[in-house]
Amino acid sequence: MEENGNKRIAVLGAGIVGLNCAVELQARGYQVTLIDKIGIGEGCSKGNAGHFATEQVFPMAEMKILWQLPKMLLDPLGPVALSPKYLPKLLPWFAQFIGNMAQSKRRKNTQALKSLNKNAIEYYKPLLAAADAQYLLIEKGSLLVFEKTPLKKVTLQYQAYLEQDVEVKLLNKEETLSLEPNLHKNIQYSLYFPNVAHTISPLELSKKLAEHAKNLGCTFEKTEIETISHSAKGVEVSTGNDNSFFDHIVIATGAWSKVLLEQLNYKLPLEGERGYSSDLSVQTRDYLSRPVASAERRFIMTPMSHGLRLAGTVEFASLATKANMKRASMLRKNAQYILANLPELTNKMDNAWLGVRPSLPDSLPVIGRAPNHKNITLALGHHHLGLTLGAITGKLVGQIIANEKTDVDITPFCLSRFNK
Ligand SMILES: Cc1cc2nc3c(=O)[nH]c(=O)nc-3n(C[C@H](O)[C@H](O)[C@H](O)COP(=O)(O)OP(=O)(O)OC[C@H]3O[C@@H](n4cnc5c(N)ncnc54)[C@H](O)[C@@H]3O)c2cc1C
Repeated sequence: MEENGNKRIAVLGAGIVGLNCAVELQARGYQVTLIDKIGIGEGCSKGNAGHFATEQVFPMAEMKILWQLPKMLLDPLGPVALSPKYLPKLLPWFAQFIGNMAQSKRRKNTQALKSLNKNAIEYYKPLLAAADAQYLLIEKGSLLVFEKTPLKKVTLQYQAYLEQDVEVKLLNKEETLSLEPNLHKNIQYSLYFPNVAHTISPLELSKKLAEHAKNLGCTFEKTEIETISHSAKGVEVSTGNDNSFFDHIVIATGAWSKVLLEQLNYKLPLEGERGYSSDLSVQTRDYLSRPVASAERRFIMTPMSHGLRLAGTVEFASLATKANMKRASMLRKNAQYILANLPELTNKMDNAWLGVRPSLPDSLPVIGRAPNHKNITLALGHHHLGLTLGAITGKLVGQIIANEKTDVDITPFCLSRFNK
């Protein structure tokens, strides 16, 4: 620990991933500076669905999506959107995405995701206890509900989870309603995942972790990193008005990471998968007690401290494209089919939000040292699972920098898979 105190580490990006890295490294005695251009937890980690979704062990690249995609794209407010102007830019990523649909790759990527998801919630528990934030983690499981899908298909999905050792129960209408009595009578079946969890405020969780890191000695700087370069003195991080040297840096800049990695001559096929959320100001106890996702409408509702959060949808567009808040209002329309007795919807949107998921075509994050820079560690590309995987990523980054054996084999997450 004492030796570590002489080592200066910068963590770039104060989203849920960077925050967990900062806490872990500062707790190990390193001198950590956390840097973010917009503030603590204000990027994609702010308005997400708050679901510790450890059951999601299947990569996004799946053959059946190819058949469903044209129909989804034809509906301007459907679950997936892509502007024709952006298509040429997306093609290289999409080609790799299709490549990952091959059975052998899908099997390998599923095993890798499983290895991270397996104990992901357990890694949060000691951190939340130390940060006095245990109240933010609710362990009541979650439901995936079905309105029209035939039982045969629901059963196939159920069996696929069982085959991957995911704890799951297939419930009929009555059993589903006994768990969540305020669901709409449209719901016919559900899959119940008893071992997953949710948070009642993703933003508060980030703030609590930041406060904990600060109490341990970590400092925070609000500034934009323009360049990073490597020299004999260490890693130089330059902002508009300052240049600082660090012994080691961790890049955890989410959907904005591609530009920084290009400066170091690495290829990173990262796309910003934009998603929306909207909060209904209702007493959540009158509606739900756990996250409920709709299999057909592809969105999720999570009871939070300030109301019911509706979240989901995928939109491919450049990072600079203006938000289309109609996509957030669509979530509210969908909620009327899943929940009974929702109050009359007004045109007023409560906290409509756009976030950009950092997504790689194989649905695996990058966690590991940069192949040609031993004092740069990468923690990025957590796509739909950044909240879920934050704590385990922080733990692995600590172990990587300290040259310890990692709790999980990190070979599948190495950047070299895109830089052969
Ligand atoms: C609608 C929606 C719902 C979701 N629901 C869930 C869910 O239920 N469960 C789950 O596990 N995941 C969910 N996700 C995904 C999850 O939110 C992301 O995977 C996660 O937030 C990514 O965290 P991050 O720390 O990598 O990125 P971010 O939170 O985006 O943090 C990156 C930070 O880097 C900073 N940064 C970038 N570039 C620079 C620079 N040059 N200089 C300084 N700072 C910089 C940014 O300002 C930002 O704060 C959801 C996402 C969306 C959009």
